[in-house]
Amino acid sequence: MHAGVKRTVVTQGKALSLMDIGAPVNRYDALVIGGGPAGLSAAIYLGRACRSVVVFGCERPGRSRWGQFNQNYLGFPDGISITDLTAQGRKQAEKFGATFVEAEVKTLMHEEHGFALTAGEQSYRGRAVVLATGVDDQWAAFRGFEDYIGKTMHWCIACDGYEMQSQRVMVVGNDEHAAEMAMQMLAFRPENVTVLTNHGALGLLPETIARLQEHGIRLVVDRIIESRAREPGVFEAIVLQGGEEIELDHLFSVQGAVPNSALARSLGVELNESGYIKVDTEGRTNVLGVFAAGDVTRLFSHQVVTAAHEGASAASAIIYELYEKDEDAFRVQDSAMEVR
Ligand SMILES: Cc1cc2nc3c(=O)[nH]c(=O)nc-3n(C[C@H](O)[C@H](O)[C@H](O)COP(=O)(O)OP(=O)(O)OC[C@H]3O[C@@H](n4cnc5c(N)ncnc54)[C@H](O)[C@@H]3O)c2cc1C
Repeated sequence: MHAGVKRTVVTQGKALSLMDIGAPVNRYDALVIGGGPAGLSAAIYLGRACRSVVVFGCERPGRSRWGQFNQNYLGFPDGISITDLTAQGRKQAEKFGATFVEAEVKTLMHEEHGFALTAGEQSYRGRAVVLATGVDDQWAAFRGFEDYIGKTMHWCIACDGYEMQSQRVMVVGNDEHAAEMAMQMLAFRPENVTVLTNHGALGLLPETIARLQEHGIRLVVDRIIESRAREPGVFEAIVLQGGEEIELDHLFSVQGAVPNSALARSLGVELNESGYIKVDTEGRTNVLGVFAAGDVTRLFSHQVVTAAHEGASAASAIIYELYEKDEDAFRVQDSAMEVR
């Protein structure tokens, strides 16, 4: 078990019955919240273990809903778009019996033998839960910024740094992490790198500013007000509040992300200081029967391959725990028959 993760059964709040809600009950072995790579991978493993599973996805764009093209996912030498990868993943999960519901999960609560949730007009009951709800990126926002995401607007150097050779790159962020990324970017031999704070006040330490200067990285303290595109999704320039226009090819938005962990919190799941869900190596949280996988579980290594791995690990742990529970119930039944 991961250091610092305690397993406790949380009994806070009144256990609500679905009868109380008055909705038809849909029962599953596992409820998977989030239909990105983590949730899909969990559903495939659960389906192939002949466990009933339902996956909830919603309109709110998770990272895998943006038009990104992955060049680092194993097995695709020409790269693969995330939308194609997740469409294939859904098909694969459906082939093994997974049900998909396109609705946001609004409430999640304990029940006598597991968990109950509401999504759309329906209620669902499950013996285990996988929270694969991802994060919301704090993009450098200006009118039409969404068009650039995944094409010339990025956040992750491991995903897109490789393509920065001979490019004019702007790193937008106002902290040490943004400055570090700008300096790491030099390894890809870009034409130039600029750091834009996108904030009126400077949030960098004096020694960091000196290091940026030593590396030939320009630092601009200003805010983006609009952009000009060469073609849809391709930057030509950004226009700053102070009136300057900076020509660029790519922009890395390094303004942080907020984990979607409200449902976890409502169940009493332990979070780290940044709001990410604490899990052990198999995706178990501190609440029995509640697992988490993908970007919502950690601050670093937010990758498709990691999310898929974590979803599979959580599903494997659930499969074993359900087997153990079923065996225990079987033994109790057996001994009751012997007594008779
Ligand atoms: C522009 C961009 C480029 C990237 N490039 C790469 C790359 O090249 N290589 C790489 O490995 N990774 C890349 N990533 C990162 C990768 O997309 C993520 O690591 C991955 O998608 C995480 O998967 P996930 O399943 O944890 O979360 P997500 O893919 O974010 O999926 C979570 C889903 O949960 C849903 N959800 C949240 N709350 C609820 C709720 N209450 N009810 C129902 N549904 C809910 C969301 O709508 C979302 O669809 C990139 C990301 C972006 C944004």
